[in-house]
Amino acid sequence: MLADYAVRVEQSGGRRHPEPPHPYRNDFQRDRDRVVHARAFRRLEAKTQVFTRRYSDHFRNRLTHTIEVAQISRTIAAQLGLNTDLVEALALVHDLGHPPFGHSGEKALDAAMREHGFSFDHNLHALRIVEDFEIRYASFRGLNLTFEVREGIIKHSRDYGADQHPELAEYLLDQRPPLEAQLIDLTDEIAYNTADLDDGYEARLLQVEQIADSVDLFTRHYSEARNRYPNAAEKLVFNEALKSIFDGLVGDLITNTAQRVEAAGVHSLEGVRRHKERLAAFSPPVEEERHRLKDFLHENLYYSPALAAEKEDAERITGELFAHWMEEPDDLPRNYREKAAQEPLPRVICDYIAGMTDPFIYQQYEKYCGG
Ligand code: MG
Repeated sequence: MLADYAVRVEQSGGRRHPEPPHPYRNDFQRDRDRVVHARAFRRLEAKTQVFTRRYSDHFRNRLTHTIEVAQISRTIAAQLGLNTDLVEALALVHDLGHPPFGHSGEKALDAAMREHGFSFDHNLHALRIVEDFEIRYASFRGLNLTFEVREGIIKHSRDYGADQHPELAEYLLDQRPPLEAQLIDLTDEIAYNTADLDDGYEARLLQVEQIADSVDLFTRHYSEARNRYPNAAEKLVFNEALKSIFDGLVGDLITNTAQRVEAAGVHSLEGVRRHKERLAAFSPPVEEERHRLKDFLHENLYYSPALAAEKEDAERITGELFAHWMEEPDDLPRNYREKAAQEPLPRVICDYIAGMTDPFIYQQYEKYCGG
C-alpha cells in the first residue's frame, strides 16, 4: 500500500528511449536489476569504503556498504508507505560514481581536475556512468533508467543550482526530490556511522572507553547492554550496543519523517516536491547525536594517524597517474584516446581513473609511474 505522497511507477517521467513494458517487472524493478547487472556495480566490490583489504577481508567495501544501505532503505520506505522498488534502485546506485580509494581518491581526483579548470563530483559521475559509459544494449548507450532514478542520483545527497548546472535543468532543480530519494542520504549515514564504528573497533583503532568518552549515544546504549549482559564478552556487548543504536536511528527517522509529512499537511508527491525543505529527517535531538558520532569518527578514525599513510598513498597514486596521462595521452587505452579527440583530456582521464578499482589503479601506477 503506497502512501499518497509516494512515487507511483505508472506516473514515472519515463525513459529517454521508450521501451515496451516488461510482462512481470515494473520500470523501477527493471532499473534496480539494470544497476545490479552493471559493470560499475560489480566494481564496487574492489573499491575502498574506509578500510583497504590490508586491514581485513571482512570489513565493508563499497559493495557491501551499498547492500547495507539498500536493506535499511527498504525497511524504512516500507514503513513510510514509500515506493520500495524505487528506493532499492536508488540505494543500489547511490555510490556508483565513487572512484577508487574512498574519499581520498575523490579528493585527489577533484584536486587534479581543478588544476585544469574542472572538478570531480561523484554524483555527476554516477549520472555519466548510467547515461553513457555502460554499454549493454544494442539500441542505446547507458542503462536508459527512468527519470526518477536519474533524478535521485543527482539529488539524493545535495542540491545543485540551476545557474551552475544548466545541463541538469531537466531534473527540476528548484524542487525537492521525492521522499524515496531524500531517504537515501540519511540511510547512507545510518549505514556508515554504525559500520565504521564496528570496523574501527574490530580493527582496534577505536576502543570502547574512547568512544564512550565522547559519544553519549554510544555510552547510553553500551551501559544498557552491559547491564543486560553483565558476563558477556566486550565484543558482544559492543555488538548489542551497536544494534540498538542502529535500531534507534532507523526508528527515529521513520517516526520523525512521518510526523514532518503530517505536520506539513503534505498529501501528494507534488506536495513533497514543492515543500520548502526536505521532509525526511531525524528529530532534532537525534540529529544532534548523529553529528556528535560523525565528528567523533572524523577525528578518531578517518583522520587517524593509523590511516594517514594509506590516505597519502591514495592521493599520491591518483595525482601522479593523472599527471602521467596528461603528459603521455598515448599511454591511455584506445577508446579513451578516441574520446580525447572529442572531449577535454582531463575529463577523459578523470572518467578513466574514476571507474577503476583499487587493485587496478595500483597496477596502472606500477606500470606507468614505476611503483
Ligand atoms: Mg554511501
